[in-house]
Amino acid sequence: MDRFEQAPGQFRNFQKDDFEADWIKVAECRFGQVYQVKLKLWREKFALKSFDTALKIIEEVSNIAKLKFKYIMCIYGMCSEATALVMEYMSNGSLNNLLVSHTLMWPKKFQMIHETSLGMNFLHSMKPPLLHLNLKTSNILVDDHLHIKISDFGLIHWEEGMNKTLFIEQLTARGNISYIPPETFTQSPNPPGTTFDVYSFGIVMWEILTQQKPHAGCSVTTVLLQVSQGKRPCVELIPDQRPPECEQMISIMKQCWAQDHTERPQFSVFITASKEYISCIIQLMLNTEDILSMLSKKDFGSFRHSVRREHVYTQFSGQKRLLHYTVASGDPE
Ligand code: ATP
Ligand code: MG
Repeated sequence: MDRFEQAPGQFRNFQKDDFEADWIKVAECRFGQVYQVKLKLWREKFALKSFDTALKIIEEVSNIAKLKFKYIMCIYGMCSEATALVMEYMSNGSLNNLLVSHTLMWPKKFQMIHETSLGMNFLHSMKPPLLHLNLKTSNILVDDHLHIKISDFGLIHWEEGMNKTLFIEQLTARGNISYIPPETFTQSPNPPGTTFDVYSFGIVMWEILTQQKPHAGCSVTTVLLQVSQGKRPCVELIPDQRPPECEQMISIMKQCWAQDHTERPQFSVFITASKEYISCIIQLMLNTEDILSMLSKKDFGSFRHSVRREHVYTQFSGQKRLLHYTVASGDPE
């Protein structure tokens, strides 16, 4: 039987020669490589993430690959020949890189934070919650309309009875020290729960708001010591010229990285609390001079109309991509 004649939704096993010969390397990482490839049959670009080790990881992912949601990465299958996962290709790469290469406007920053929280809320709403344990800006990928998708969930696990040192090694080996909550390093840590990811999300928020790197220039040991003593990235680095609604966001961010994990909000609570800054996205869009100057009265009418009906905004062409706005669905009414 042809490999492509599998049942709909089934995790596919692609062969290397299902792809065009020119594989473009997008990134070389500690655990493998990411390539942009083109699938001959579907005539579309995909990302192929190969792992230098363990096919086991890939097989495990087949279980969660069935998950589909607007803000999480879609996994199409695997290529066991290349020890790789075949995923959606995100043309604007990682948020990590985007934050360095572009200055984002406040509405876009808020929107990205909001979309990330929706994606995480989806993972945590599974029963039992699907923990990411590797949420960081390099695992938030950006499509050509500057919407985000969360990737690489389910690659790190904590299992009952697991050697805790090994678990911590798994986490820190990926250069993730800034995203790991302090309780992970206590002498007898509890198994990680949803509040682990909420802490990481707090750091991601800070990175989006400041467009800087947390604990820049500090060694792993220094970060570990400082974070254990309650030190967090510097809130003063968030630009002073910010919309007033940003204060609410900063206060939620601080709750997300609270030292006591029981004080961190769940994503569902976060999304409800975000009502104010979602309306801020709308306000800012209405106030931003350069946007208004680009809009004809007609555009403005349809723009306002769509705000209420579908939460979808007019997109602008002929300007920098960062002026494209499409507000996430799932906004609080
Ligand atoms: P980790 O293995 O802990 O997730 P990482 O995120 O730094 O570490 P990779 O997941 O291998 O490493 O990704 C490296 C880079 O490859 C990303 O930062 C991004 O720029 C690019 N990349 C990964 N997946 C895709 C994709 N689906 N589409 C486009 N680019 C991607
Ligand atoms: Mg990754």
